[in-house]
Amino acid sequence: MEVLLELSRRADELGVDILPATRRATFEELSLAHTPEYVAAIASTVGRSLMLDPDTFTMADSYHVACHAAGASLDLVDRVVAHEFHNGFAAVRPPGHHAERDRAMGFCLFNNAAIAAAYALRHHRMERVLIVDWDVHHGNGTQEIFWNDPRVLYVSLHQFPFYPGTGRFDEVGDGDGRGFTVNIPLPRGCGDDEWTAAFRRVVEPIAHAFKPQLVLVSAGFDAHAKDPLGGMRVTETGFASMADSVLSIAREHAGGKLIALLEGGYDIGALSASVETVLGRFTRAAKEVGTSSAGGTETGPPRPRTRGGEVTGPARRDEAGSAATRDGRFGEVFARVRAAQSPYWKL
Ligand SMILES: [Zn+2]
Repeated sequence: MEVLLELSRRADELGVDILPATRRATFEELSLAHTPEYVAAIASTVGRSLMLDPDTFTMADSYHVACHAAGASLDLVDRVVAHEFHNGFAAVRPPGHHAERDRAMGFCLFNNAAIAAAYALRHHRMERVLIVDWDVHHGNGTQEIFWNDPRVLYVSLHQFPFYPGTGRFDEVGDGDGRGFTVNIPLPRGCGDDEWTAAFRRVVEPIAHAFKPQLVLVSAGFDAHAKDPLGGMRVTETGFASMADSVLSIAREHAGGKLIALLEGGYDIGALSASVETVLGRFTRAAKEVGTSSAGGTETGPPRPRTRGGEVTGPARRDEAGSAATRDGRFGEVFARVRAAQSPYWKL
């Protein structure tokens, strides 16, 4: 929390607008991704300290705080859709991606990203929302909530095997949602090369084929080399590259509409530096659009949209020779992801 407050104090220097999280998600909004019974159960914890799961406790105000965390995410969806902001970062806690439809887990009460995605589908009549989850843990909750839903493409990169145990290659969704869950399980010790390669070789081509109208990012920073919980070696350079990747996907298909939601990240210094790096990429992307659009922000939709025609799928930036070395250990992971996803996506 100190990290986030410090960042907000430096808002001007960072070139970002800070919005107070004054909006509470309503019972109905929380129920877009959770069962009403579950929402009521969490609401009933007000004023009490309870253990919901070995990692997940409530204190007197936890329900209220979680309502504001989800509400801040919805506020950003509205503002980005209304072109008030080009993109946004919901620096909220508690995190959300482990929370399932009717179960609290892994520090998470309400699944902020899932609620935001479901809200965009329902209230902004979107048909395709992409959730990219780069937290070091698999977002079992987000996967479970949209397991059968082809309108939400869930793509997760995570350490495996690791908590919570889900996120294998062959978990691809079911029913109409088959192929709309993409898991990229990475072995312990992967760094910028492998994570960046995963974006270039899997996330980008699948996202370009899906053509999302909104991009949400479950942005955890516990894959950082200094994180005490994760076992990965990602640095600020890697997070910058991942941010550029999702920004380019949003720019090509969604008129730039992208919202990141904070998930994990447990080394104070690494979290601070990484969030600052990602915010830098976000503000740069917003400025690029600002300068290319014709002045004012109040009349007409100022954002250029690229849709359909000119999108040509994944950029092949590397020739075969150099790709192998820069991809580190991603090669063997890629072969298995491709095998699992080949019925649904061209990789
Ligand atoms: Zn995590």
